[in-house]
Amino acid sequence: METKVYQVITPERDAAIEKAAAVLRQGGLVVFPTETVYGLGGDATNPQAAKDIYAAKGRPSDNPLIIHVAAPEDAEPYAVTSDAYYRLARHFMPGPLTVILPKKDTIPLSVTGGLETVAVRCPAHPVARALIRAAGVPVAAPSANRSGRPSPTCAAHAAEDLTGRVDIILDGGDCEVGLESTIVKLDGNKGVLLRPGAVTPDDLKAVLPELSIAPAVTAALAEGERVLSPGMKYRHYAPTAPLILLEGEESAVRAFLVEKASEQGVGILCFNEEVNLMPKGAILFPVGARADLTAQAHRLFGALREADAHPTIKKLYAHLPPKEGLGLALYNRAIRAAAHTILHIDRT
Ligand code: AMP
Ligand code: MG
Repeated sequence: METKVYQVITPERDAAIEKAAAVLRQGGLVVFPTETVYGLGGDATNPQAAKDIYAAKGRPSDNPLIIHVAAPEDAEPYAVTSDAYYRLARHFMPGPLTVILPKKDTIPLSVTGGLETVAVRCPAHPVARALIRAAGVPVAAPSANRSGRPSPTCAAHAAEDLTGRVDIILDGGDCEVGLESTIVKLDGNKGVLLRPGAVTPDDLKAVLPELSIAPAVTAALAEGERVLSPGMKYRHYAPTAPLILLEGEESAVRAFLVEKASEQGVGILCFNEEVNLMPKGAILFPVGARADLTAQAHRLFGALREADAHPTIKKLYAHLPPKEGLGLALYNRAIRAAAHTILHIDRT
């Protein structure tokens, strides 16, 4: 398959969006930007499109897809909505929040991985919104990476993984957030946070006081344990070189990193303020300032891709993110990329 790449500058009047919308309606696949990461989209009402998405990604077909709509009420034909859904929608949609609701028959089971629920999101990115509107169908879209690779935060990442596997890539520049959406499963007025993202637990609790956090968000799964969200059981974003996360007192961790940085084959995802402390020749991937979690979220997946592409790295070190606020989303992605390998550094 030939993949065409179009840059989209003015989404409301762009010929590429019309082409991409027609491709979606005809059952084809389109990569498009959102404010979280790039999505690999197909018509969510077309079972064959769903199968093609799984094939293009190399993703297990029991891992359900999120359906993207242009406005919260556009979910009505596809999901059983509720007061709690509209309360969340008023505060966080359009935006980086996905809500899981009972599904209606209009959504094939091949989209939901066989589940009777469906994940609904209304993205804020103008290109995503214009595309969904022009298509006139809900767009099923997982992240536009090959399964097991970091999610793409720019069109070049998606092209790296999916050229020849999709019809069109719409290039709308860098994604603002850089981490996938927050996912909440609703049961009446109760919500369970299944995946943390830019909408934080505190943000959610202000609207949905009865919010709990699924244990799998921060913990390793026991062998054979059942999960609420199928995506949680897969190893995610696994870098080629093993990633080790460091926790401990700031100066002790820094001293450890400075020592490791001079070893052969070691790469470090460091804070910007650490760059000048590292020995000459160290292989560094600055991820932002220590206090700037927004910058770190924006940068994490790109840094992991760069480390993957580096010819000599055998081992990667990074700081263990904090679990507060946006830190929880970074923590959740980091422990998956590191297969839960955390090293505690004691003061020496
Ligand atoms: P991605 O599209 O790559 O961001 O992954 C979407 C994730 O959403 C999946 O890995 C699932 O964990 C989660 N998800 C989607 N639909 C459902 C659902 N109906 N129930 C629970 N989790 C879901
Ligand atoms: Mg994904």
